[in-house]
Amino acid sequence: MKAVVCKAKNRLTVEDVAKPQPGAGQVLLKVRACGICGSDLHALEYGFADSDGIGTRFALSSVGNIMGHEFCGEVAEIGAGVEGFKAGDRVTSLPFLNCGECAACRAGKPTKCRTLRVIGSAQTPGAYAEYVRCAAANLIRLPAQINFRHGALVEPLSVALGGVNRGRLKADSPCLVMGAGPIGLGVLMWLRNRQIEHVVVSEPSSSRAELARRVGAAAVVNPRQRNPAQAVEDIAGSAPAVIFECVGAKGTLAQAASYAALGGQIVVIGYCMVPDEINPHECINKSLTFDFSAGYTRADFETTIAALATGAIKPDPMITDVVSLDEVPAAFERLHQPNGPAKVIIEMG
Ligand SMILES: [Zn+2]
Ligand SMILES: [Zn+2]
Repeated sequence: MKAVVCKAKNRLTVEDVAKPQPGAGQVLLKVRACGICGSDLHALEYGFADSDGIGTRFALSSVGNIMGHEFCGEVAEIGAGVEGFKAGDRVTSLPFLNCGECAACRAGKPTKCRTLRVIGSAQTPGAYAEYVRCAAANLIRLPAQINFRHGALVEPLSVALGGVNRGRLKADSPCLVMGAGPIGLGVLMWLRNRQIEHVVVSEPSSSRAELARRVGAAAVVNPRQRNPAQAVEDIAGSAPAVIFECVGAKGTLAQAASYAALGGQIVVIGYCMVPDEINPHECINKSLTFDFSAGYTRADFETTIAALATGAIKPDPMITDVVSLDEVPAAFERLHQPNGPAKVIIEMG
């Protein structure tokens, strides 16, 4: 099958590789759409997380790997012992292969499995490919109203939902979303979905700022030109009570602390790969809470699918590029540009 393979730091190639076989409890999915995640860009630059941590040993952990954890498709082949699915079923999957036998798996908590492997990491191949192997227990059906492009957005929208769920939010909470990449836009959509009125977005890229306006930000500011906290204060009467950090670059935690109101909460969703500094003195004086948001649950996937099916969440503005597998290396180049795409979806015929 055709797949996009990590060859070296910041280098991808399109190759013919062996088609995976579904083991017991697994299915083989024919991939129909897969998103390119900001964390994939990070992984191709710094290497994947492994037992020794992140970003120190690119070559050892990453060469030969196939990325892609935001995907959907149709069931193609079924492994031993799998019931309830048949060829052609439209599904997405939590991007995990778990053992299915340990206490956590039997309790219906696959993400707590002792031998969890993340699909599209160095642990097991992902969906930048014609086929991907999944655990049947982690499949979730896509209703007919959800097209495959939207199916590939279920994972990143669930990341955003997981972050919003951690926010201590009231309808009139002054909120700041830092970064209008796909996750920041997702956070903005969920906040608007919850009728949160005062949401300001900070984003230096003019094209992404425009997307944030289209998705319903009360204001969008370029943080290099204007203090976003002041913009929140102008609209809501006070500095941000809840800040969603969706940038994941060095320096943003200290910025968030400086923007936050007294007693404010900073939900950190951006996946920064290098150590970052805060000033504890400022954080203590303002009595701030940092909340590091890790991923999602199966329930978040189900909530997202329901919101897409009813049109409560309309994510089309965030899809700026649709490419084929052959075009993925070029798409990664574009994603490094300052006014580059928001969400790139790889679509397979
Ligand atoms: Zn992702
Ligand atoms: Zn397990």
